[in-house]
Amino acid sequence: MASKQDVREYLAYWFQLGKKIVLRNRRSPFLPSPVIQGDRYSQEFEDCWRDILAVDGQDCYLEGTDYTIAELLSPSWQLEDCARCEMPVPLPTSGMPAEVCPCYDLALWPNHEVPRPRSPVSSASHLTGIRERLESVESSTEDEIDEDSPQTTDSFSNQAIEENNHTNSLVSN
Ligand SMILES: [Zn+2]
Repeated sequence: MASKQDVREYLAYWFQLGKKIVLRNRRSPFLPSPVIQGDRYSQEFEDCWRDILAVDGQDCYLEGTDYTIAELLSPSWQLEDCARCEMPVPLPTSGMPAEVCPCYDLALWPNHEVPRPRSPVSSASHLTGIRERLESVESSTEDEIDEDSPQTTDSFSNQAIEENNHTNSLVSN
């Protein structure tokens, strides 16, 4: 099953190759441009993604494909790399892969001369992620200590005493 994050990246990659999205409430296929701005997704891309999620991807699909974003977000599909162009391509989780990669109608793709589509690289958000993980580890450790504080301390000191006795008996022997 593809996560929302996977599907978001899938769209961002294909948008960078000029593939448009057909949205439920728009008459004509739409291409957010630019896709990436600096170290993050552009506002245009975020707005487009928000519109897609607002209808749970119903009736939204990448131009030239016949699976909807809603289907991609269901357990029946997963995203793999296309054997021909290494772009993310939806495959059914069971049964035959009847679908073709969206690259089939891109005459100029794959093209190894040009940079591949990418995800935005944000060192700031990467650091925030690390900090949040550290903070959650710290707070959960604190919780544990708070909850069984007396017990933990007792058993810990008992153990220390036992070890100490053991060491003493070893020394005296
Ligand atoms: Zn392909």
